[in-house]
Amino acid sequence: MDANGGAYNAAAYQGNSAPSASASMTYLCAECGYHNNIKPREPIRCFECGYRILLKVRTKRMTQFEAR
Ligand SMILES: [Zn+2]
Repeated sequence: MDANGGAYNAAAYQGNSAPSASASMTYLCAECGYHNNIKPREPIRCFECGYRILLKVRTKRMTQFEAR
């Protein structure tokens, strides 16, 4: 199991050569207030309580309020 897992891991790692801008965003759970680091491909869901409504938290970037 060990060798198998290792090999699989290595292959996957090499195949996925795109480093990409792994811009994980921080979301604040609307239910429990837990800060979740969620990557673009991951489902929006609180890791702590499983709640599905998360609020986007802007880290200290030069982003101003986004008018919608
Ligand atoms: Zn939560």
